[in-house]
Amino acid sequence: MTSVATLGSHCSLQVLKGAKDEGFKTILICEKKRESLYRRFSFIDEFILVDSFKEILGLKCAKRLEEQDAIIIPHGTLIAQMSSQEIESIKIPIFGNKRILKWESDRNMKEKLMLEAKLNIPKSLLSPKEIKGLAIAKRHGAAGGKGYFLTTSEKDYKRKRDKLIQQGTIKGDSDLYLQEYAFGVSAYLQYFYSPLKDTLEFFGVDRRYESDIDGLGRIPASQQIDIDITPSFNVIGNSPLVLRESLLEEVYSMGEKFVEASKKLVTPGMTGPFCLEGVYDDNGRFTAFEFSARIVAGTNLYVEGSPYSAFIYDEPMSMGKRIAREIKNAEKDNQLVNILT
Ligand code: AMP
Repeated sequence: MTSVATLGSHCSLQVLKGAKDEGFKTILICEKKRESLYRRFSFIDEFILVDSFKEILGLKCAKRLEEQDAIIIPHGTLIAQMSSQEIESIKIPIFGNKRILKWESDRNMKEKLMLEAKLNIPKSLLSPKEIKGLAIAKRHGAAGGKGYFLTTSEKDYKRKRDKLIQQGTIKGDSDLYLQEYAFGVSAYLQYFYSPLKDTLEFFGVDRRYESDIDGLGRIPASQQIDIDITPSFNVIGNSPLVLRESLLEEVYSMGEKFVEASKKLVTPGMTGPFCLEGVYDDNGRFTAFEFSARIVAGTNLYVEGSPYSAFIYDEPMSMGKRIAREIKNAEKDNQLVNILT
């Protein structure tokens, strides 16, 4: 009997609850220090306790997963804690296209895929010398916004970079990627692409609350000037958003273009959940500064379905449940090879 496994973090509760609701056995690969948290939830059938998530690369863990016919659902923690090579070397089947995760982690590859999808993206700056207006320095990989900073000149960039080096957060320039800052209202667009049905489903939108940039608005400008802080963009949580209905047509077309581009550049393309992340400007034009090629934590908002999933399904449908439904449908039609890598 097939089981569904994931790492205990990020959106694991949603993923395993959805899998259980769809009739799968559920397995949590859980760091020992978090065991007591996850033991609270009865929908987790089995625990594989580890000291570090890297243990899933080892034979012992792999054997246990293999014995249970497990399918691993990748999420942000897998990408944050493992290199692309390590992820690709995992022998247990992974839901979706594990090769596309590399395109998420590497900023240059990421830009290439977004350009292929003809998304409107902020200009990347090849050197701090190119900084003219407001720019953002970001780290590679799924760093969750930690160690990011805003900057307006080369001099200012160097000062902030050196501080991060001193703190041990980064090693040097090569750990940072510079991009023009995009102004507007942030929106993180959540999609699911089913290769079985060849359809794109728009699942929901969220906004991220990032510390400490989102707390700055509570401090009057006169006091902001007096304090020397470099705001970071560390994600703390998410809040829901619905879009003006007139924006939805473009939401779908951006998602479809992304799916098409991914099929061209990284076969079999973008299978399952993904997210386009960016801002809407005052003309309702979307600038995408990022994508996630797997389930995002913002979908945790919609465990009971979202204002958009309700238009597609006559039942509460979370992203976790949607993934499990895809596995179930694929199993029924003998199509698992088309949704796993
Ligand atoms: P990322 O890792 O690219 O998702 O960035 C983390 C956070 O930094 C985002 O959620 C945004 O708040 C902010 N951010 C990243 N890139 C940009 C950009 N080009 N313009 C404005 N904000 C950005």
